[in-house]
Amino acid sequence: MVGSMVDPQNLQQRFSLNYESESYRRLIGKKEVVIHCHHYNARLQNIIEGTHQIKGKEIILGAAEEVFSEYIPNFLRKDDDLATKWQVAAQLYAHLGYGALDFSQINNNVVTANSSHFVEGQKTGFQNANCPICTFTEGYLQGVIHGITGEAVTVRETTCMNAGSDRCEFKIDRRRTTPITFSPKQSINTYPIQSREYQHHTNIDEQKIINALVEMPFIGNEEGLLPAFNVYLANTPADFYNLICIRFLAEMHRENLYNTAKELLLFAGEVCALNTLRGILISPEWYELIAPMVKEESDCLYGLIAVTNALGWGNWHVLEYEPEAILKLEALNGYEALGYLQYQGQSDTAQCLMLTGVAAGIMELLHGEGTVEERIGTYTSEETSCMCCQQSSCVFEVEIL
Ligand SMILES: [Zn+2]
Ligand SMILES: [Zn+2]
Repeated sequence: MVGSMVDPQNLQQRFSLNYESESYRRLIGKKEVVIHCHHYNARLQNIIEGTHQIKGKEIILGAAEEVFSEYIPNFLRKDDDLATKWQVAAQLYAHLGYGALDFSQINNNVVTANSSHFVEGQKTGFQNANCPICTFTEGYLQGVIHGITGEAVTVRETTCMNAGSDRCEFKIDRRRTTPITFSPKQSINTYPIQSREYQHHTNIDEQKIINALVEMPFIGNEEGLLPAFNVYLANTPADFYNLICIRFLAEMHRENLYNTAKELLLFAGEVCALNTLRGILISPEWYELIAPMVKEESDCLYGLIAVTNALGWGNWHVLEYEPEAILKLEALNGYEALGYLQYQGQSDTAQCLMLTGVAAGIMELLHGEGTVEERIGTYTSEETSCMCCQQSSCVFEVEIL
């Protein structure tokens, strides 16, 4: 790389987290990020890319390109030389938990990676051996190259650790003639609305849990990976999730597969709860911080909800809970609802499929039996009120099947 390396510690402060306690939002570089695990990210990718009727890979690539082209300038300074800018791009990728990128051969149009959140995700049980799977990274590179140099390029992964290579390799093709397009986004009033009455729980100190989780450094380690709660986590701009889900639903709608698409996204949320939240329940972090507050069976639910309120998904609370039977949750500012309103405006159908699935997954986790596969589908979940439909909050009602 031409130029001198900046001390990584000096760049680190550019990525510092700003947690907005009123809205329960995690902001890095002035953009809202949400935390999900490698199970969820791999599941979403496989759902979108695995549906043969649509061009799913383009959805993920295009969204990553758009989001990170817009995002990377938030971390750059006027006097940064080009070498420092590539260093920022690599460090941001690692900081968010996606893995380790090496830009030292960028002048030869090559970028490599020797660890990857997405390859780890594939190892959790997907049948994609022998093919490159780092679509997100291709989009990330197209985005940051555009954000740094203004040039629209095509990046393709030529070898991948998922296919047995010892590193992933990305080739940059500079013959691209199409520009990067950006989705129009309207600003909406996201001032935190006040909750109506919800069930507080005396045993669980939600604020103490949130404060502790916000203090935890959910940032990539020296490999750029973020192991915590027995899973790999990553911080991803909410815009990315919203764009891929909106486009997936739109393309599936054109193929008359809209309801299937909704079921699949809901299922991804359900599996997310059964993996990430299960990991949380058996983690050292849970034993240390939350287990001492758990005095009765229902406390586990309130502890889990408090934890998820620190992940950047928004602010949600329990309205009604009957263990093994009924769960009713209210979200005041879920990222799906706000994202949909920004990109699409009002709708006549509820749009928060991740949270709908997570709500079912929580009941299956706490009251189901057997393996993840055996628990899936044992509770039904419905979003009965949604901010996308001019209602003041999103409400999820879960019942045993
Ligand atoms: Zn790869
Ligand atoms: Zn909603």
